[in-house]
Amino acid sequence: VGCGICINRCPFDAIMIIGLPEALKFPTHRYGPNGFALYGLPVPQKGRVTGILGPNGIGKSTAVQILSGRLVPNFGEEGGTWDRVLEHYAGTALYDYFKAVANDSLKVSQKPQYIDLIPKAFKDKTSALLARTDDRGIMDELVERLDLSHIVDRNITELSGGELQRVAIAACAAKDADFYFFDEISPYLDIYQRINCAKLIQEIAQEKAVLVVEHDLAILDMLADIVHVAYGEPGGYGVMTLPKGVRIAINQYLKGYLPEENVRVRPEAISFEVHPPRNETEIDTLVDYSSFSKKYKEGFALETDSGSIKQGEVLGIVGPNGIGKSTFMKVLAGEVEPDEGKLDMNISISYKPQYIKADIHMQVQFFLRGISRKFDSSYFQTEVVKPLGLEKLYERSIPELSGGELQRVAITACLCRDADMYLLDEPSAHLDVEQRSMVTKVIKRFAENNGKTAMVVDHDIYMIDMLSERLIVFEGEPAVYGKAHAPLSMHDGMNKFLSNLNITFRRDEDTRRPRVNKPDSRLDREQRSKGEYYYNV
Ligand code: ADP
Ligand code: ADP
Ligand code: MG
Repeated sequence: VGCGICINRCPFDAIMIIGLPEALKFPTHRYGPNGFALYGLPVPQKGRVTGILGPNGIGKSTAVQILSGRLVPNFGEEGGTWDRVLEHYAGTALYDYFKAVANDSLKVSQKPQYIDLIPKAFKDKTSALLARTDDRGIMDELVERLDLSHIVDRNITELSGGELQRVAIAACAAKDADFYFFDEISPYLDIYQRINCAKLIQEIAQEKAVLVVEHDLAILDMLADIVHVAYGEPGGYGVMTLPKGVRIAINQYLKGYLPEENVRVRPEAISFEVHPPRNETEIDTLVDYSSFSKKYKEGFALETDSGSIKQGEVLGIVGPNGIGKSTFMKVLAGEVEPDEGKLDMNISISYKPQYIKADIHMQVQFFLRGISRKFDSSYFQTEVVKPLGLEKLYERSIPELSGGELQRVAITACLCRDADMYLLDEPSAHLDVEQRSMVTKVIKRFAENNGKTAMVVDHDIYMIDMLSERLIVFEGEPAVYGKAHAPLSMHDGMNKFLSNLNITFRRDEDTRRPRVNKPDSRLDREQRSKGEYYYNV
């Protein structure tokens, strides 16, 4: 009794409900006597995309190892056998699945979470990697669809993050398998590319079982049919709920409470306030900037409109990859000189670049304390350090941090400096869904409470929606030409941005979160005809 899919039928449910870790007595798998324990498993099913929603360190990869047959679950005891597994799952949805696993007849194709490791193992031409994985003979089509034709002749080691991500997705999709697992598709990709990959994965799922982990909730929402929420204590234990419909799962997760399980996964809800725009004339202007242009030798040219930045506002910055967003930020931060136009912004700026260097050989605590005495103030500790979970990293050396850990340190360092304006380039990168929501809250409160202005470039629509009061939209042709518009209201900015992407969003009736409309659905057509791509409230 009491684990895997039967977790909810367990006679010890009463104990489960309180949610005490010691009461979780029947794990699906435990790594050693005091090791991490996983409770429950996702159930991959042919014909649909199954999603897993939850923080990192909660057992998602462990579950996938089990489902792909590389790890025999031990049910908390020593040594596991497939016979025992089959006995355990007799009469459940996982029985046939594990029968195929035990007979070695289940083929699995997997896209790893950390694509940065691929160039370490494979240094040949991209076309060689793709040819090797092309069991289905569909690589030409995939190369076309994922916009990879210009890079197939390059070495894997020379690809950008976004290119490598799409190569990894193509390689996983081209294999002939029964079960496909994509461990995050969105890192390094812009929204257009995320949606494009999501559509491809949905097509695979028409005939195969597909499991995805995804921390961009707008993408998970449009991609998955059903979702297992994963909760627990990262590194300690993790529980996979029974599958829920994707809308319900995300709404419950945002609210922080899972009614079927009677478990609170977070003390408070993550909420989307649909705030009316502030009356612009009433807010003081922090700075006016003039238009400028910047052309790189290799060819890319950026042009910007002049604009006005308000005191205490958060400005979101959106646009495809390679359109000049980071260049814009670097010019504002004074790291890159514009060719034409002079900024003349007489304000101090604190800047977190998109690509963070980890070459300071110092413990996190000394690095952060060295930035400003503000770091140890009780305000900063309560508002920034604790919510971002930095205390656990204090004694770690900066070069040893993982991507997500380094990101949180860099965000903290940026906010710790005294400045009039804070620039954050892609703060959601490498963060899991829970950390993204914390970072969003921290930046928003920091700006509100201190009357400071922040500019945030990000591809996560939920983050942009929750954070921004106004938007700067970038348009043009990636890698060739980019144009930055003057700041627009959220309504006008989102309309411009989404009409370029050719998608419409509505708001969820319950949580007010944005949801992608199905192309050509009634709402989609209605909103398009009115020119309301964002939401019609
Ligand atoms: P997620 O994919 O949700 O980030 P993982 O399944 O990778 O989580 O890991 C969950 C926990 O299990 C982590 O604390 C990790 O350190 C631990 N863990 C993973 N693999 C092993 C292993 N082979 N032996 C012991 N502990 C492990
Ligand atoms: P985004 O942040 O919108 O992805 P970037 O500002 O990073 O865009 O880059 C815009 C374009 O300029 C890209 O094609 C990029 O390759 C190019 N680029 C960026 N920095 C340099 C540089 N230092 N020298 C030459 N080209 C550059
Ligand atoms: Mg950038």
